[in-house]
Amino acid sequence: LMFGKARTCNIVTVPEHEPLECNIVILGAMGSGKSALTVKFLTKRFISEYDPNLEDTYSSEEVVDQQPVLVKVMDTADQDGPVNCERYLSWANAFIIVYSIDNRNSFEACQQYLETVTLYSKGLQPEAPVILLGNKVDMERYRQVSKADGAALALRFGCLFFEVSACLDFLSVQHIFHQAIREVRRE
Ligand code: GDP
Ligand code: MG
Repeated sequence: LMFGKARTCNIVTVPEHEPLECNIVILGAMGSGKSALTVKFLTKRFISEYDPNLEDTYSSEEVVDQQPVLVKVMDTADQDGPVNCERYLSWANAFIIVYSIDNRNSFEACQQYLETVTLYSKGLQPEAPVILLGNKVDMERYRQVSKADGAALALRFGCLFFEVSACLDFLSVQHIFHQAIREVRRE
């Protein structure tokens, strides 16, 4: 059995770490599905109509790999790319940058976010993990961005890459947020 790092008291074994707090910011072009993904992760439900201008931060107590974590998700609503980014750059422990696989423009928009975020993150100690996320894989018939293009962009910026759909299964969406948390823990 592995108990990880622990300090031993008289009777019980107390984990060395307090429950981690993990701040995740969701970035990307309008309409790419940031709010739908956030709501899906937090409620297991797909909400198809969500105020496109609403930016908010939500909290959720999660258990990831048997360890509790207080997750905060900032669902941004930028209209023109990475402007006023100070509010999330210094706040975030992890970044999820979303595009829609059926919208080439949303994919192009990711590049600016990746540049801004990775430039900032590389100067941090520890570095904040970045995930590039292609959403709406249920729209396969209308795909404008190949999986290879997504993977290549992620490789260029040294970040993780996934494809998902906010309106399909919950576990795939949850997996992405949990991966972000795992990456933060590993730092
Ligand atoms: P945001 O501006 O990035 O927050 O995007 P929203 O979450 O508001 O979603 C924009 C539109 O895309 C809405 O009409 C959603 O119903 C739709 N949408 C979001 N995620 C998906 C998805 O995975 N599949 C499909 N087909 N539509 C989605
Ligand atoms: Mg939104």
